[in-house]
Amino acid sequence: MPPPTSPPKTYRVKSFGCQMNVYDGERMAELLGGQGIAPAPDGEDADLVVLNTCHIREKAAEKVYSDIGRLRRGDGTSPLIAVAGCVAQAEGKEIMRRAPAVSMVVGPQAYHRLPGMIAEAVEGRRAVDVDMPLETKFDALPARRKVGPSAFLTVQEGCDKFCTYCVVPYTRGAEVSRPFRDLVDEAKRLVAAGAREITLLGQNVNAWRDESNRGLEKLIEALAVIPGLARIRYTTSHPNDMTDGLIAAHRDVPQLMPFLHLPVQAGNDRVLKAMNRSHTAESYLRVIDRVRAVCPDIALSGDFIVGFPGETDAEFDDTVRLVEQVGYAQCFSFKYSPRPGTPAATMADQVPSATMAERLQRLQAALGASQLAFNQAAVGRRCTILVDRAGRDPGQWLGKSPWLQSVHFTGPAAIGDLLEVELTAAGPISLSAVPLEPVRS
Ligand code: SAM
Ligand code: SF4
Repeated sequence: MPPPTSPPKTYRVKSFGCQMNVYDGERMAELLGGQGIAPAPDGEDADLVVLNTCHIREKAAEKVYSDIGRLRRGDGTSPLIAVAGCVAQAEGKEIMRRAPAVSMVVGPQAYHRLPGMIAEAVEGRRAVDVDMPLETKFDALPARRKVGPSAFLTVQEGCDKFCTYCVVPYTRGAEVSRPFRDLVDEAKRLVAAGAREITLLGQNVNAWRDESNRGLEKLIEALAVIPGLARIRYTTSHPNDMTDGLIAAHRDVPQLMPFLHLPVQAGNDRVLKAMNRSHTAESYLRVIDRVRAVCPDIALSGDFIVGFPGETDAEFDDTVRLVEQVGYAQCFSFKYSPRPGTPAATMADQVPSATMAERLQRLQAALGASQLAFNQAAVGRRCTILVDRAGRDPGQWLGKSPWLQSVHFTGPAAIGDLLEVELTAAGPISLSAVPLEPVRS
């Protein structure tokens, strides 16, 4: 058992992985701030370190253990260490056994209980909490106070889809939607705290339903009338949950940005079936047709996995063909990574790593070409960008176009401005622009 220590005065939260983890990390930081613990200044040791981990790919757990080993302070002592996130959920007590330096292990549904765990840890008692309690963590968290111009809002957690490669249904639990009223209230507080854009988050965000079974478009419509909220986005969507109502919102709600992250994972139907994706390449393409029919210039994005067990060269070619057919604006692509406890991890015909590397390279070349073409097609267009950070050179700024492209320009501006620009040149990952005039909203 570790010796008692004094209560932490400073903290650092390190979040890995998806945007939902970024959101959780922000909420944990707010929770710790509410306990009188301050963020550790850059470059200084923290008294408490929270590793907010991701378990989706790679040897996530091994990486956590090596990160823990490196958490030494300048004076040779160890900070109080909490392991949170999906590795915490998946590994639980095993972390305590293997890493004596860790005082707290807390799962993604229990982190609102961190203050009590810290009090225990200060007394020298270690605690594991990987419950999925009925009381919602959201009710127990402090109100949002200060955020950047672009904020995340988790509306839905968990997943019932059980794709055969994925740990999310095990680490994040069953699909749960947060109540409509709570979300509208949190969105208003985010806007009061400085947000001009809100991205609604969920593992299957478009499966969100309120108590009366209303879909995500109803929430989007309610948020669109919040004064000062200029932009709404949502991610990640499942192809089977793209309803006509949500698609119509892309035509009817001007604040809803023309961007859709709609992972397909693979372009071959046998592979999709083995993945338990419950859609085919064809049904996915039909969803895209329906979306493009109401919003022709929508930017499409996706996730891809190469080298799923049993995937042949010819089956992989179908994925490349699908990419060429869709014309994506940006994408994420990954080598298949066997996750302990998932059905695919024990399937026959695991694909050799070198084959996966080759396929990933080919896929990324196709995705890169698609992204460049999308960006080049935007040159000459006028659009609004939301300024989100200063560039490297004086007077240089970066922001996001409605299509989520990174845009840089030089001129008078401030973070949070909505600026009318003309896009003047395009590269593979960003565009340049000249400012026209600020937009009032
Ligand atoms: N729910 C979303 C969906 O179904 O599209 C995505 C959630 S998951 C956090 C994000 C992405 O990680 C997935 O779309 C998939 O491409 C990738 N992923 C999940 N499990 C993986 C695995 N075992 N190996 C490689 N990539 C994986
Ligand atoms: Fe994982 Fe599939 Fe659920 Fe997405 S839909 S979180 S990939 S199980």
